[in-house]
Amino acid sequence: MSDWDVIVVGGGIWGLSCAYACAKRGQTVALFEAGKIGQGASGGVVGAMSPNVPESWNAMKQFQFDALASAESFWATVDAKSGLRSGYGRIGRVMPITSARDLVLGQERAVNVDKFWQGRFQWTVLDSHPLIPEPLSPYGVTHDTLSARMYPAHAVASLARACRLSGVEIFENRSVTGISSGIVYGDWGEAFASAIIIAGGTDGFTLLDAHLGCVTGTGVKGQAALLGCDLQDAPQLYADGVYVIPHEGGVTAVGSTAEKTWDAPDTVDEKLEAVIERARAIFPALGDAPVLKRWAGVRPKARRRYPMLGPVPTLNGVFSAMGAYTIGFGIAHAVGEVLADFAGGGTYDLPKNYSVNWHME
Ligand SMILES: Cc1cc2nc3c(=O)[nH]c(=O)nc-3n(C[C@H](O)[C@H](O)[C@H](O)COP(=O)(O)OP(=O)(O)OC[C@H]3O[C@@H](n4cnc5c(N)ncnc54)[C@H](O)[C@@H]3O)c2cc1C
Repeated sequence: MSDWDVIVVGGGIWGLSCAYACAKRGQTVALFEAGKIGQGASGGVVGAMSPNVPESWNAMKQFQFDALASAESFWATVDAKSGLRSGYGRIGRVMPITSARDLVLGQERAVNVDKFWQGRFQWTVLDSHPLIPEPLSPYGVTHDTLSARMYPAHAVASLARACRLSGVEIFENRSVTGISSGIVYGDWGEAFASAIIIAGGTDGFTLLDAHLGCVTGTGVKGQAALLGCDLQDAPQLYADGVYVIPHEGGVTAVGSTAEKTWDAPDTVDEKLEAVIERARAIFPALGDAPVLKRWAGVRPKARRRYPMLGPVPTLNGVFSAMGAYTIGFGIAHAVGEVLADFAGGGTYDLPKNYSVNWHME
């Protein structure tokens, strides 16, 4: 006899998305979080939701496109249920074109987009954009209307409340130290469910390592900052490795570092100051806006880089929602639906490179 239909391990954006999707289907759900909800990579400030370029189309690009296209209505529903704001906004994205070759590619993508993005969103080549200095964009800029943003910590809060209102039982400060089919263990005891979803971010990989006999993933630290800068309805900006993400409420995020090694997962240092200075130098609109917050977290990267989703070999009824890496927010709700299919006893026609088996090859 199980305590719940589904146990989710981890209270970041992926664990909450899985719990919400399962609860919506009428399953009883418990979510076990080692510390506080959103204490991992999902509690940050950046929150870009951006597409792949519309060319060389494949199943992964289709999955990501479908997720990005449906994110707006998903987050509107969550926010309506929770009464909170995730900060979702489909603001688009602008990037400079820096070579003649990239101009040709951009023009080809502007044609491809009708087919791959189903005529619902545009990818346009423009002469310039007021927020991108002309010396940086000698061949113009690309503008897409599919990209969006949310404020990560607010999205987590909104989804957590929507989960609770949907009947998900959330247990904080309950670290899971072991799993087997139908059971999760910790120093608090054990709990039983027909299906177990592991969504533990970077720390969660060790739960899989023990069963799969290898290092299933690692973490890449990132540091980012929130500036008191009101760019109003401006799109996301990306140039020279720097992201600028305008948020609601007169604030703008800039990021990020990508650090394969680090001493502490949540400390900020001079590498972040360098990113902030570079952002100010590239985008004059940031001016000398004050830094309101400095933040660091660790992105969960599966061993072969792509998300690692679905059934875990050798563990019947245990499923992975791991490896969000750099695209966690854009596809979170779609990952939730996939895992709810599996946890409900069904299947999902996943892109091959997203399966746990592919990661183990
Ligand atoms: C600086 C920075 C900028 C980023 N920018 C973007 C961006 O612009 N767009 C984007 O899409 N993504 C971005 N990301 C990545 C994004 O934050 C992650 O992809 C996403 O948050 C991962 O979500 P998750 O739920 O898988 O993991 P997490 O948010 O890390 O959640 C995992 C949770 O599981 C808990 N946990 C771990 N082990 C256990 C256990 N044994 N028992 C119980 N609980 C456990 C942890 O405490 C944690 O709360 C960025 C990341 C960083 C660091």
